[in-house]
Amino acid sequence: MFESLSDRLGGVFDRLTRQGALTEDDVTAAMREVRQALLDADVSLPVVRSFVRAVTAKATGAAVTKSISPGQQVVKIVHDELIAMLRGEDAPETLRIDTPPAPILMVGLQGSGKTTTTAKLARRLKERDRKRVLLASLDTNRPAAMEQLAILGRQIGVDTLPIVPGENALAIARRAKQQASLGGYDVYMLDTAGRLHIDQALMDEVQQVRDVANPRETLLVVDGLTGQDAVNVATEFDAKVGVTGVVLTRMDGDGRGGAALSMRAVTGKPIRFVGLGEKMDALETFDAERIAGRILGMGDIVALVEKAQATLEIEQAERMMKRFAKGLFNMNDLRGQLEQMQKMGGMQSIMGMMPGMGKMAKQAEAAGIDDRMIRRQIALINSMTKKERANPDLLQASRKRRIAAGAGMDVAELNKLLKMQKQMADTMKKVSKMGKGAMLKQAMR
Ligand code: GDP
Repeated sequence: MFESLSDRLGGVFDRLTRQGALTEDDVTAAMREVRQALLDADVSLPVVRSFVRAVTAKATGAAVTKSISPGQQVVKIVHDELIAMLRGEDAPETLRIDTPPAPILMVGLQGSGKTTTTAKLARRLKERDRKRVLLASLDTNRPAAMEQLAILGRQIGVDTLPIVPGENALAIARRAKQQASLGGYDVYMLDTAGRLHIDQALMDEVQQVRDVANPRETLLVVDGLTGQDAVNVATEFDAKVGVTGVVLTRMDGDGRGGAALSMRAVTGKPIRFVGLGEKMDALETFDAERIAGRILGMGDIVALVEKAQATLEIEQAERMMKRFAKGLFNMNDLRGQLEQMQKMGGMQSIMGMMPGMGKMAKQAEAAGIDDRMIRRQIALINSMTKKERANPDLLQASRKRRIAAGAGMDVAELNKLLKMQKQMADTMKKVSKMGKGAMLKQAMR
């Protein structure tokens, strides 16, 4: 999902974050690349325009260009705008299925993944939300589609309305409603017929079914691989039958992702779920923040900026990041890290957020680092000379004894600290040799 877009944007922001100071021209040039990357990902032009305008306005302000880490600030602004674009203002958190039996109408073109999605969602409602679900296929033109839903229902342990040959869609909808009430179901889902293209007969039928069922949710299933077409289909369906949410399927493919990005802005309809494969568990809720994170592929620099801003440690974090990027990590860096940890509340919270450092956090945890330990380690480092801190390889037995005694500790404890620094330095070297992609993968482990 979003791989090529993510690579492109990653390149732009890598350059930006590496630069110390940013001029407005730097930002404008970067935004030109962002614009092209979004267009190439098949995001619709008006959406791209308003996105770039919003980001540029915020990113060229003095607060950004004069800040200590302007590149990271720009990443953060882009990130926040992406979320706004993906989520909109009033995205509902959950499906409105509180009054049983709550009808959910599933609509979409043939081949979009509607039947599969219906079953996936039923499974989710059953397993996560402990709902009793009844499924009904209304695709009277395609007996195979009705049979497919019955098979999927058996597979996931969800009831399907028995098929009555010759019955029309409206009659099936009425029977499903009745059966759902009588049978004490929490939810009933109507899998409407799809066509290859939008046509009037299809829309008429869906409208009639809608009027019978009075659905709490009308979810439109669209194929995410079809890009702008998916957005057009959504616009038409919404105009004709009114949809409450969108499910984008095939987001596991290498589609360009533009549909996901334009959907909300163009149609005003929230994406509720994304399909990530053919299996019954391959359905995720659409989480704008997570998706924005994936698109930007910047580890969690954003979260880091937020936290660092709060504690005004940007400058130091930035300096450290630069050294880390070069694979450098001496006792000064370790002390900086330890102090940062004290301020920011713990190892995991900060290290886990930096690209490539998830593993280090684990190493440190394994080494038994806690707050008391951090204080002792800082004391040890403070007991070293400037030269020793810059180059811990200098520490031979006599120096070690002096340092440990100076901090009121024994050499064994100092050795532990040295080992930790060495491990971290090794990790930094490895991380700096890897490309950004590999770094991220490592961070996500
Ligand atoms: P319908 O005609 O809209 O009901 O489409 P189906 O539910 O029959 O799906 C058509 C094909 O797309 C099937 O082979 C599904 O397994 C596949 N499919 C559905 N959703 C996804 C998805 O999210 N990812 C992938 N890779 N395949 C999917």
